[in-house]
Amino acid sequence: MLTNRRALVTGSTSGIGLAIARALAAEGAEVILNGFGEAGTIAALCEELGATHNAANLMDAGAIAGMMAEVGPVDILVNNAGMQHVAPVEDFPAEKWDAIIALNLSAAFHTTRLAVPGMKARGWGRIINTASAHALVASPYKSAYVAAKHGLAGFTKAIALELATHGITANCISPGYVWTPLVENQIPDTMAARGLTREAVINDVLLAKQPTKSFILPEDVAAMAVFLCSDAARGITGANYAIDGGWTAE
Ligand code: NAD
Repeated sequence: MLTNRRALVTGSTSGIGLAIARALAAEGAEVILNGFGEAGTIAALCEELGATHNAANLMDAGAIAGMMAEVGPVDILVNNAGMQHVAPVEDFPAEKWDAIIALNLSAAFHTTRLAVPGMKARGWGRIINTASAHALVASPYKSAYVAAKHGLAGFTKAIALELATHGITANCISPGYVWTPLVENQIPDTMAARGLTREAVINDVLLAKQPTKSFILPEDVAAMAVFLCSDAARGITGANYAIDGGWTAE
């Protein structure tokens, strides 16, 4: 149970982050949501989870500092917000590269550096970074995402070592394809980049990677996050758990 634990989950108004927020709240944690969305929908989520919401844009280091000051000490930090862009490297818009590195990698550095002093003071902390199968292997046309996720995996290992004697663990969860808006929204660009139909992208590009031939459920990723927050997981740090239907076993 996570009663008396405060959890900030970035990018938790949708998809995997929302599933993690729901699962942590179900374990009794006080949850702080972050992410974009329609005001009424977010208010309903806060009501459902007994949560609060912070709308900071995590591509902006100053906004992250403001969020961390406003939110106050957190025991559990889930760096989950992320975005994707699919294009050949020679056509990859430089501003998309910068945005993906800022959101998928640098934001985790900024939240972590600001959350760690409080975790150290309390002698307990859980940092969970939503990486990706693309933190372990690459796919074409996703240069920024693959670079950011490999970077996030390395960052996680470094902080795990730094924090190992402070009761603070840092781990990655690396999902394969999970059916969320992030995946759905990349289908048109992948169709264009590869000259394929929507059905071919789903079956021959996305699910072709996963030996199980099925999408991962957000709830299954959330269950791993809950386990990593448990006392039983106190000895797990610097790890990178693939939940990818066998993708990275090949
Ligand atoms: P999603 O698009 O459903 O959710 C993304 C969340 O991030 C939303 O809450 C959105 O509002 C928030 N967000 C976007 N830009 C933001 C910004 N600038 N500042 C603050 N919040 C912002 O995506 P998802 O599929 O749930 O992805 C969540 C994480 O999981 C990402 O890091 C993604 O890379 C990773 N991931 C997803 C998959 C997948 O197949 N869906 C696979 C592996 C890893």
